[in-house]
Amino acid sequence: MFCSRCGASNADGAKYCVSCGALLEPNRPADADWQQENRGWTMLIAGLAVVGALAIVAVLLFS
Ligand SMILES: [Zn+2]
Repeated sequence: MFCSRCGASNADGAKYCVSCGALLEPNRPADADWQQENRGWTMLIAGLAVVGALAIVAVLLFS
């Protein structure tokens, strides 16, 4: 799992972050919401990147 404060990787089940000492709270709903929201943005950006790449290819082919 990753520290919600500094993002350091910690062993699953660890109570405190090895990097910054923050209390780790596994399976917190807020974290799940954030990850889901973040995944949505990642998919949106990936989709826009694909569309942009196709547009560039189309311009190169037909110009
Ligand atoms: Zn930390």
